[in-house]
Amino acid sequence: MAGIILHIDVNSAFLSWSAIKLLEEGSQTDLRLIPSIVGGDQKTRHGIVVAKSIPAKKYGIHTADTVASAFAKCPGLVSVPPDHAYYSEKSSQLMDYLRGICPRIQKVSIDECYMDFEPIRDSYPSPEAAARAICDGVFETFGFTVNVGVSDRKVLAKMASDFEKPNRVHTL
Ligand SMILES: [Mg+2]
Repeated sequence: MAGIILHIDVNSAFLSWSAIKLLEEGSQTDLRLIPSIVGGDQKTRHGIVVAKSIPAKKYGIHTADTVASAFAKCPGLVSVPPDHAYYSEKSSQLMDYLRGICPRIQKVSIDECYMDFEPIRDSYPSPEAAARAICDGVFETFGFTVNVGVSDRKVLAKMASDFEKPNRVHTL
C-alpha cells in the first residue's frame, strides 16, 4: 500500500463484543458502561484480564493483570469468560463490511486492519471524512465503536488509531 492508509481498530474488542452478545441475549446491562472485564477462569479467579471496560480502567485495571488483582482493585467488578467463536464471527462481519467500502483491506489481527484509501479517494472529500464515515457506519451497523488512524505510513496510522478512544479519528 502506498499513499494514504487508514488503520481501523475495534475499541476494547473482546469486551465490546461480549457486551453486545449479552445485550442480544436480553441482558439489561451493557458491560461497556460498568466496571467489567473479559477474564480467565471465573470460579477460581485465576487467569488474566484479556480486555476491560473504560469504567474498569478508571479503577486502575489493566490488560494482563491477574483476575484476582482486578477484583482486589474493584470488588464489584463483573467478569465474563471469553467467547472466541463469537469474536471470530464479529471479526468476519466487520471485515466483510469494510471490504464493501474498499476491497483493499489487510487484516492484521482479529480486530484491526489497514485499508488503502487510494481506490476510494474520489468518493470522499478527505481521508478524515472517510475515516469518520467508517466510524459512524460501523457503529450504526454493528453497535460497537472503532478508532481510525490516518497516515501515509502504516506504522503511523496504527499509532494514530491508538490515541484517545473510543470512536475517534486521528491523523499523523
Ligand atoms: Mg482493538
